[in-house]
Amino acid sequence: MTTSYDYDLFVIGAGSGGVRASRMAAQTGARVGICEDSRIGGTCVLRGCIPKKLLVYAAHYHHDFQDAVAYGWQPHHPTHDWGTLIANKDEELDRLNGIYIRLLKNAGVEIHEGRGRVIDAHTVQVGQQAITAKNILVATGGWPFIPDIPGAEHAITSNEALDLPERPHRVIIVGGGYIAVEFAGIFAGLGSQVTMVIRGEELLRGFDNDLRVELAQAMTRAGVEIHTRSNIARIDKNAAGLNARTDLGADISADVIMFATGRAPNSRGIGLDDAGVRLGRNGEVMVDEYSRTNVPSIWAIGDVTDRMNLTPVALHEGMCFVKTVFGGQPTAPIYDNIATAVFSTPPIGTVGLTEEEARAKFGKVDIYKSDFRPLKHTLTKRDHFTFMKMIVDPATDKVLGCHMIGDDSAEIIQGLAVALKCGATKAQFDATIGIHPTAAEEFVTMRTKEPD
Ligand code: NDP
Repeated sequence: MTTSYDYDLFVIGAGSGGVRASRMAAQTGARVGICEDSRIGGTCVLRGCIPKKLLVYAAHYHHDFQDAVAYGWQPHHPTHDWGTLIANKDEELDRLNGIYIRLLKNAGVEIHEGRGRVIDAHTVQVGQQAITAKNILVATGGWPFIPDIPGAEHAITSNEALDLPERPHRVIIVGGGYIAVEFAGIFAGLGSQVTMVIRGEELLRGFDNDLRVELAQAMTRAGVEIHTRSNIARIDKNAAGLNARTDLGADISADVIMFATGRAPNSRGIGLDDAGVRLGRNGEVMVDEYSRTNVPSIWAIGDVTDRMNLTPVALHEGMCFVKTVFGGQPTAPIYDNIATAVFSTPPIGTVGLTEEEARAKFGKVDIYKSDFRPLKHTLTKRDHFTFMKMIVDPATDKVLGCHMIGDDSAEIIQGLAVALKCGATKAQFDATIGIHPTAAEEFVTMRTKEPD
């Protein structure tokens, strides 16, 4: 390794991708520094996946208390204390933040507190210090985007929703993507009146259509009101709270209006333009298949590159980067059959192609579906269903996609992702003996094709 630079690698951004890449690089013997202008941990740990899922757990107790009655527990009416939830969640985030700092230090990565700004191909300015590095890795993630409408300053994003001083009674959620449906489930589960405003016809664009329809129906049954084909035209503050006017002329009042209208790459104001790094139309850092920018010493991974914005993908990109640069093995991240979950209520798990994608790619495909009330709810009589779907290529018998909405879908689909990664066929699914009684066994007992 060269010694003419302060570091072999300097990483800007200590989120999931940056922390993993810096630790792995340090383990190869490289001298590594990292900077962060907020807390170490990034979106997933501090403002995303982790706190969100803790709130999802909180919301599910609502039904659990009610369901317990069907199993002989005496009815009781617990109340929820939002302050306790947020305080406990914050305590856990502090613990995780501490773990991340320790992991970096134990790996020998030097932490620089402050915003990093690229000065040239080998220099990053952090505070008063100009730090030189043979390679620079940009891992600055993304940030919620709110459309520019009158009164937008009264709205919040998922960042603030996780730290509200009290639970709002009435919430409007704008957008119909991952974050929107997850927070709709959280607030509705905790007892808020939730109205979603989406500009399209269905939630979760890009997911299998059957799942999108099932989710909208389940959320509507749970009391979430969904305004489709609507945009918020303006927001006004009044004595009673906030009023949102849609472009269709509807007025919706609320205590909190949360925009979950996507996230923009965090690429501005960190010197990338000055260093000549090419950015895409939405500010995403343009990289080649090895995560290298057009400036050979500058690389980028994770949400700032806007490839597939998921924490495990950022980790994968980070590890491929380390293999490429410090392991002597050029390794491109592989994006096929990446399973994903949406922690909506009910949750969704999905891997592989949707029916729409499979038809576009293969023409004819075989579809298997299963729709049932989970065993648990045979006693509770709750209007709560599980839906599963499998897509098969009839020419090769390969399973192209598995999709599920219902309890435990994320846990179930993670296992199936291994099978799809191995190229499993429908015959191999059929030859697998199920575990009874589970929901997961349905995936190995689907025998009836949907009519063409
Ligand atoms: P998404 O891109 O998933 O969804 C954005 C939503 O906002 C879509 O419904 C979109 O509508 C709508 N929208 C976009 N712009 C506007 C606008 N100007 N006016 C009105 N509506 C608009 O973004 P999220 O913010 O929900 O999540 C960001 C990313 O974070 C996701 O893509 C995902 O990769 C990741 N994530 C993953 C999670 C998980 O794995 N469980 C959880 C949370 C986030 P339309 O569909 O019409 O474009």
